[in-house]
Amino acid sequence: MGTKNIADYIIATLGSHSALQILKGARDEGMRNLVICMEGRERPYKSFGVADEIISVKKWKDFWELEEKLINRNVIMVPHGSFVAYLGADRVGSMRMMQYGSKEILKWESDRHLEREWLERAGLLLPRILEKPEDIDRTVIVKFHGAGGGFGYFVVRSPEQFYEVKKKKYPQEVDYVIQEYIVGVPLYIHYFYSPITKELEIMSLDKRYESNADSIGRIRAEDQLASNIYTSYTIVGNIPVVVRESLLPQLFDMGERVVEESKKLGAGKGLYGPFSLEAVVTRKLEIFVFEISARIVAGTNPYIEGSPYTALKYDVPMSTGRRIARDIKEAITLGQLEKVLG
Ligand code: AMP
Ligand code: AMP
Repeated sequence: MGTKNIADYIIATLGSHSALQILKGARDEGMRNLVICMEGRERPYKSFGVADEIISVKKWKDFWELEEKLINRNVIMVPHGSFVAYLGADRVGSMRMMQYGSKEILKWESDRHLEREWLERAGLLLPRILEKPEDIDRTVIVKFHGAGGGFGYFVVRSPEQFYEVKKKKYPQEVDYVIQEYIVGVPLYIHYFYSPITKELEIMSLDKRYESNADSIGRIRAEDQLASNIYTSYTIVGNIPVVVRESLLPQLFDMGERVVEESKKLGAGKGLYGPFSLEAVVTRKLEIFVFEISARIVAGTNPYIEGSPYTALKYDVPMSTGRRIARDIKEAITLGQLEKVLG
């Protein structure tokens, strides 16, 4: 560390989620890259030709034996949505190698109560939380802790229905949250805030392709009832969205307030780099935010060649992966790398 030459550094990530655009983005910015893959999962990184180097591990636990080597090679790790899932929250917290993005903010993002406090303080509209199953007097979505990628959520309308589904799907003692179900369209807003330029950017938006929420409508209502399907939200892919232009001022404003508020949480440098607000927009155009993701989200994957918004702002195809690499590159060149490291 300490040099201002980008050739002395390597941008790395784990092989899954949004690794392809992170690697491609590093290369497009003229930086070397490296991907760490689970053995047998190297194919996309080889086939698409985006990785300068592929390191395979037998189990994710073996990653930690590599850390010293990665430190010696000035490797900067870019965490993504699968990062904590693969390496474990505790160990990621005590990671010693260089890591892009704030670590402290992850505590606020991953604890439901802290997350809610942060978003409320930022003045966002949030879905109501119901304290206990007996309070269910409307359509609610029940989210089980650790239900990754929407897998394991379910929608119910009464306490009886709640217990029936819970008994079937989660007979053991589990942690969950009961949220008012907001009728509207889902919208995932992808932001980027650079501590170097101090500017908040809207990179792109997506909606998700979920099984079987996106498939129930393919059969008649009678068949839906007869086959006794529960709505589930297992993520399969992501679909690009461009919003009504008149919504943009509000979206900028929401992102800005979340960044501003993060600086007051006592969480180190606060929120920076890529982040996403996960929202549902109602017919009255109210925007309810149900979650924040403080890292690159996979919804940015359709935009490896840039989005309609980045096309307006940049004269090169700017993916979120590339935007991260550019932030790192600018920080190195200015001798301010510590500004972007967690
Ligand atoms: P994977 O690497 O695909 O096994 O995913 C690991 C975790 O990353 C999942 O449990 C999800 O929470 C998240 N994830 C993966 N792909 C996506 C996606 N396309 N959109 C949103 N989240 C995702
Ligand atoms: P998540 O995995 O948390 O991003 O959410 C999975 C899916 O649940 C998303 O497609 C959302 O549209 C949906 N969802 C989550 N919370 C709510 C809510 N309060 N009201 C309506 N839909 C929701």
